[in-house]
Amino acid sequence: MGGATSDHNVGLRPLPEPRPLADDERTLLQRVLELHGRPARDPGTLRVVSVCSCGCRSIGIEDGSAGETGLQTYDTEGDGVEVIVHEINGQIQELEIWSGAYGPVELPDPARLRRT
Ligand SMILES: [Zn+2]
Repeated sequence: MGGATSDHNVGLRPLPEPRPLADDERTLLQRVLELHGRPARDPGTLRVVSVCSCGCRSIGIEDGSAGETGLQTYDTEGDGVEVIVHEINGQIQELEIWSGAYGPVELPDPARLRRT
């Protein structure tokens, strides 16, 4: 409480250097896609380019794979945390983690994730 962070300042902030997805991020992302009947991605085409300023595990992703058209979101939930993959033109843009409030939150167990 007494936070210095107000809601309107929360959002994805660019990393100085893009990085590969961490193991837990990759596992969770693939599980979301699997639950929505989407093919697994080659993690080599994905880079983390931004992270959320609130301390949650949401990440912005740059996707080097060839795209389809359209805008998709893949909604899932596990351990009380929403996990949403955002895709534009077939390219993954964000792995969003939302616990209902801003602040640090652990990634849910992929085994307990379900489609919402
Ligand atoms: Zn956040």
